[in-house]
Amino acid sequence: DKASIGVTGLAVMGRNLARNLARHGHTVAVHNRSEQRTRDLVEQFGAEGEFRPTYSAREFVDALERPRQVVIMVQAGAPTDAVIEEFAPLLETGDVIVDAGNAHFADTRRREAALRERGLHFVGTGVSGGEEGALHGPSIMPGGSVASYESLGPLLEDISAKVEGAPCCTHVGPDGAGHFVKMVHNGIEYADMQLIAESFDLLRGALGYEPAQIAEVFRTWNTGRLDSYLIEITEQVLAHTDAATGKPFVDVVADQAEQKGTGRWTVQIGLDLGIPISGIAEATFARSLSGHADLRAAARGLAGPARTRLSGAEAERFARDVEQALYASKVVAYAQGFNQIQAGSAEYGWNVDLGAVASIWRGGCIIRAKFLDDIRAAYAAEPNLPTLLTSGEFRKAVEHGQDAWRSVVSTATRLGIPTPGFSTALAYYDALRAERLPAALVQGQRDYFGAHTYRRVDREGTFHTEWATEERRERET
Ligand code: NDP
Repeated sequence: DKASIGVTGLAVMGRNLARNLARHGHTVAVHNRSEQRTRDLVEQFGAEGEFRPTYSAREFVDALERPRQVVIMVQAGAPTDAVIEEFAPLLETGDVIVDAGNAHFADTRRREAALRERGLHFVGTGVSGGEEGALHGPSIMPGGSVASYESLGPLLEDISAKVEGAPCCTHVGPDGAGHFVKMVHNGIEYADMQLIAESFDLLRGALGYEPAQIAEVFRTWNTGRLDSYLIEITEQVLAHTDAATGKPFVDVVADQAEQKGTGRWTVQIGLDLGIPISGIAEATFARSLSGHADLRAAARGLAGPARTRLSGAEAERFARDVEQALYASKVVAYAQGFNQIQAGSAEYGWNVDLGAVASIWRGGCIIRAKFLDDIRAAYAAEPNLPTLLTSGEFRKAVEHGQDAWRSVVSTATRLGIPTPGFSTALAYYDALRAERLPAALVQGQRDYFGAHTYRRVDREGTFHTEWATEERRERET
């Protein structure tokens, strides 16, 4: 009997996805460029289910029942194109190629259009949860055609994470929608991690807590509204002691954060779409700043404030205030990310259901959290919500927490502890709720030096002021 699905590319992610499929009773054809990975998989895990090891593209394609479903799990970029070109000529009308790697959504749009011309379905799908997720149940974000989801959807839903019985997989939208949503997921992940890291830095800097004590604080937070995978692993990392030195693990790790690029893509696309995702941008810049060793070394001697610790009543409330600031800043970061998905959806005609996206992020992925169920509910109640900030519980929480949030940001400023994530989130909140923004002055400056024109608050039309003349006459343009 033939396999119901095939996986090509058997490094950690592909191997674990194939095992997950087999463990769920699906017959899986497996293939990899270098044969050894295929042999290893069958040798080590063959007993877990029905694998069909294959050693050529032809053999792989022939092992699949129709419509064929070929999952590609290789390095993103040129390798993915190479593998598509290897398999596409062997496939027949109606067959489905799934790219489960971390492709840029623009590449996915290009590939989908090209393969559609050739009668093939191309599904770019986001997969989050790392190697453990791939094996035990990831969050899966497939794009592509509705027709392809009919055959593919049930398989993907079967192997995805489940939350209260609901699969963490849904058809996100056409062509590149799945990879776009995965990209924003990663951007939000950057922002969330940065906010958590700032919370740690504040507790350590302002209160002088040791990492183990801070782990305890996170453990407590994880029992409340911040309950999430990222808080949970933060607690584990902070509680870990380095075996070689006996020091807190976090103190022996080089403080230069790296990135594979999905955060950068999110920021680039945010700029292209004109969506202010300042939380994700600051988080991405914070990683890049940390990596500039020479720049940091050159600046290390610059003067800071005289006072660097809190004391007394301020110190007593501080940890509670940080929790409030973290929550409020997190709401802002997620609000911005969801607005970016909304904008991408409008730009490309994807019709993405934001509530469904929040729902499939509740489990399996890196940003999985209790919080996402509240986001799901917010969009379920109001699908065209302009911003999460004004929605019921979030509004209440942010308004209630704003004093603490302001106090934490000002304390950080006074003590010289950098909090780009907290600060930009608060600035966004204040800018959004402002009656008037100084953008009016910017328009005046633009009109002055470049005759860029402006609109007025009291009349329709476009205006320009003749700044060079004595009278500074205004005329409608
Ligand atoms: P890698 O990204 O390290 O890719 C290695 C695989 O790609 C191997 O199977 C390799 O074959 C194959 N490959 C590379 N170039 C070619 C080529 N030109 N032709 C054919 N095959 C090629 O593997 P991962 O498992 O880490 O990731 C797979 C994908 O999943 C990537 O797109 C990644 O971004 C994405 N991803 C990874 C996550 C993770 O946590 N690692 C999480 C979510 C997504 P060979 O064995 O012959 O060298």
